[in-house]
Amino acid sequence: MPDPLRFLLAALLLAFAAPAAMARSAPAPATGMVSAADSRAAAAGTEMLRAGGSATDAALATMFALTVVEPQSSGIGGGGFLVHGTANGQVAVFDGRETAPAAATPDWWLVNGQPMPFGEAHPGGKSVGVPGAVALAAAAHRRFGRLPWARLFAPAIRLAQAGFRVTPRLYRALDTSRETGALSPAARRLFYTAAGEPVAVGTRVRNPALAAFFTRLARQGPAAFYTGPNRAALVAAVAQAPHNPAPLTAADVTGYAAIAREPVCGTYRQWRLCGMGPPSSGATTVFAVLKQLERFDLTALGPNSPTAWHLIAESMRLAYADRDRYLGDPAFVTVPVQGLTDPAYLAARSALIDPGKTISLVTAGIPPGAQTLSRAAAPTAEEHGTSHFVAVDRRGEVVSYTNTIEGAFGSGLMVNGYYLNNELTDFDFVPERQGRPAANAVAGGKRPRSSMAPTLVYGADGALRLAVGAAGGSTIPAQVAKAIIGVLDWHLSAQAAIALPVLFAPGDTLYVERGSALEPMIPALQALGHAAVQPRVMPLKANAVERIAGQLAGAADPRSEGVALVP
Ligand code: GLU
Repeated sequence: MPDPLRFLLAALLLAFAAPAAMARSAPAPATGMVSAADSRAAAAGTEMLRAGGSATDAALATMFALTVVEPQSSGIGGGGFLVHGTANGQVAVFDGRETAPAAATPDWWLVNGQPMPFGEAHPGGKSVGVPGAVALAAAAHRRFGRLPWARLFAPAIRLAQAGFRVTPRLYRALDTSRETGALSPAARRLFYTAAGEPVAVGTRVRNPALAAFFTRLARQGPAAFYTGPNRAALVAAVAQAPHNPAPLTAADVTGYAAIAREPVCGTYRQWRLCGMGPPSSGATTVFAVLKQLERFDLTALGPNSPTAWHLIAESMRLAYADRDRYLGDPAFVTVPVQGLTDPAYLAARSALIDPGKTISLVTAGIPPGAQTLSRAAAPTAEEHGTSHFVAVDRRGEVVSYTNTIEGAFGSGLMVNGYYLNNELTDFDFVPERQGRPAANAVAGGKRPRSSMAPTLVYGADGALRLAVGAAGGSTIPAQVAKAIIGVLDWHLSAQAAIALPVLFAPGDTLYVERGSALEPMIPALQALGHAAVQPRVMPLKANAVERIAGQLAGAADPRSEGVALVP
C-alpha cells in the first residue's frame, strides 16, 4: 500500500498521546477480569461477570460498549477475531472478518492502472466490507454465552442514552480527522460543534441513534443488523456515498456469515500457543517469530541486550516475508498453515539467523504444502483503529478478542450511530506482480488479510498463562510476540512486558519505538549489520490478562487509556 501517509496519520494520532493513565491491576483471586482499551467498556464486561455471565458474555458486552465510547477504533460496524479457551484448555476461534461485495474485482483499487492513494481510498463507500462483528457475536454467544442476548447490550445502551465523556484520545482522533474531511455529515454532527471544532475533552456526548439501534438489536437478535432497515441504511450509505460510492448490495449484507475455524496452535519451549489463522496473518506470524527464536537463550540475554533485539528483528524479517507471500483468505488462496508452523520448517528458517550479523537478503521460504503460485504481497502499513480486549470468568474460561473498523473512524460513514469500517483497504492495492496473482488481491466475497493476533498461552500444566493481543495494523504480531517473550523469557509481568519498547522489522528497515530504550541501541544494531534503523512513533495498544499461581493480573498498554478491572 502506498502508505507513508497511513504511517504518518497513525504516528500523528499517537504523537499527541499524553502518557496514559496507568492501567493495570494487582494480582487478584481468579474471580474474573476484563482488560480493555477503555474503562467504561471494561466495566461493561465486569458487569456481565457479576451477573454470572461467561467470559464470552463479558467480551461481547465490552465490544458493544466500545462501539459507543471508542468509536474511532472498533465496534459493530467492523469485524474481528475471537479466540475462546475453556477451563481445560480447549480452544475455539471465530472469524468475523468483513467481506468484499460480490461485485468486487481484483482491480478494485486501481485507477488507470495505478493504485489509488490511501487518502483517497479509505473514506467513503469503496473501502467498506460487510461488517462481521454482530454475526460473530451471535455465533460466539450461541456456543459460549450464559446470559440472555439482550442483557449484553444493557451497558452500551445506557452509555449511548445517558452519554459518555470524550477522552483525550478520542479528542485527538477527532482533531486529526477534522483535517482529512473524511467524516460523513452524520458522523460530524455527533462529535463536532457547528463551527467544525471537535467537542472538548470531558464533553458528554449522547448517541440516541445508536441507543435505539442497540435496543432493536437486543430485542430482535442479529437479523436486525443483516436484514430490514439497518441493512437498507447500510447499503444506501455505501452505494450513495458522496465519495467512492460502491456496489454493495442487500444480498451481500444478508449473505454474511461468521465462521468457526480451527485455531492455529503450536508449542514454544514448554508453552502452548493458540491464535487466529487465515484470513489473519496473526497466529502464523507470531508463532514463526517465536519458534525461530527457540534455539537462542533469550532469558540469558535479557531485554537490555542489543543481541536479543537483533535476534528478534531477524526472526521477524523471516516471518514477515512468509506472511507477505502466503497469507490471504483461505477460501480463495491455498495458505500452507501447517507448513508455515511446521517445527522442522521453522528450524530451517531459524538456521538462517546469525547472532553476530544480519541476513543480507531475506526472502520467503517454501514451507511444506506451499504452491508455487503463491507470491509475495506488498507489505501493507495499516493505521491505528482497533481494540483488543480480554475477559476471564470465574469458571476459568477466557476470551481474547480483537475487533476493528481498520482506520480511525473507519470509512467515515455512519449508520444508526456507528461507524462503518474501511477494511477493504487491507487488501493488496496491486492485484498482481510479475504476472502472478497476489494472495491478498481483492475478490468478491473475499476477506482481506488481517494482522490481528488474539492469542492464548498455556503452561505445561495445561493452565492458562497469558491472554494477549494488540491494535496497530501490521505491527500487531511484533507487539504480541514481544509481550510473550517479555512474560515467558524475561519473566516480566504482563504489564511490564507490554510496556517494553517495540521493535518492528517487516522488511530490511528496522523501526524502533521513538524515545524508548531501543533508541540508544541503534549504533549496536547498526554494528550488527542493520543498515536502516529508524526511530518511529508507532501505533501501539496492547491488552492482556495473565494468570500467576492461580491469581489473575491484568495489563493495559501505558501508551493507551486502557485498564484491567475485576468484577
Ligand atoms: N485492519 C487491521 C488488521 O486487521 C488492523 C488495523 C489496526 O490495528 O490499526 O490487521
